[in-house]
Amino acid sequence: MKKGKKCLAAVLIGAVVLSMAGCSLQNADLPPWLEQEVCQHVFDDGEILQEATCIQDGKIGQICTLCGKTKIVVEKAHGHTALESEEIPATTTSPGMTAGMYCGICGETLSGRVKIPQISTGGNTTVGDFKPGWLD
Ligand SMILES: [Zn+2]
Ligand SMILES: [Zn+2]
Repeated sequence: MKKGKKCLAAVLIGAVVLSMAGCSLQNADLPPWLEQEVCQHVFDDGEILQEATCIQDGKIGQICTLCGKTKIVVEKAHGHTALESEEIPATTTSPGMTAGMYCGICGETLSGRVKIPQISTGGNTTVGDFKPGWLD
């Protein structure tokens, strides 16, 4: 409010100068910021403009029920909810995953959880056994 006080001082000085000069201040309007200083704002519950997520701040817009002044309240990002996950062994039908941590809200991997390749079937037939000329 430092700036506001400075402005107020400027207005007062201006008023003194003007009245000394014999001018009428009757038509002078109060600057908007001065009116807002007077209101003891009563803000409503607000409306969610943007939902807060694990990593992004949310925004709530509130309106003063007395003067209609609006303000935006920032809701801090609540951070990841870390959950432990156990190792999922790879099978012949699906890949596995190492143990680690993940977020229970957004599902983002926080640590570990490296994919384990699916176990290949038909491991008995190795390409190395193939000999050139074998087709004779
Ligand atoms: Zn107000
Ligand atoms: Zn998350």
